[in-house]
Amino acid sequence: MTDTDSSPFAGEGPERHFREGLEAGEYRLQFCDDCGNNIYYPRALCNHCGSANHSWRAASGRGTVYSTSVERGRPEAGGDKNIALIDLEEGGRLMSRVVDVEPTEVSIGMAVEAFIGDLDGTRLILFRPAAEGAADGT
Ligand SMILES: [Zn+2]
Repeated sequence: MTDTDSSPFAGEGPERHFREGLEAGEYRLQFCDDCGNNIYYPRALCNHCGSANHSWRAASGRGTVYSTSVERGRPEAGGDKNIALIDLEEGGRLMSRVVDVEPTEVSIGMAVEAFIGDLDGTRLILFRPAAEGAADGT
C-alpha cells in the first residue's frame, strides 16, 4: 500500500524497464530525447531538463572508477568487498562493485567494464577491470 501507484508518472515504470533489461541480460540506459543526457537512475522525468521524452539504448558498459573504498568483511561472509563509484562513458555515475581484482587494488581512474552478475540473489550491474588496451583504443 503506497501512494506511488497513483502517481501520474508511474505508468511507464522506468525502473521496471531497467530491471527487465537486467533480467534479459542487457544493460540499458535511459536517454533524454530533448537534451541528450543520460538519465540515471531511471525515472519518469529527465533530471537534467524535466522532459518526459526518453528512449532506451544498450550501454557500452565502459566506465572509469571515480572513487573506491573497501568494505571489510569476515571471510565466512565473503571477505573484503570493493565499493566504487563508476563514471559511465555515456555520462552518469553509479555505485557498484569492482570484482575479479583484490578490493584494495581498485584505483581511481581505473578503466572498468560492466557485466551483469548476481550478488546475494539480486541481479545487478557489476564491474571488472577493462581488458588490457581497451581504454586507449582511439
Ligand atoms: Zn533532458
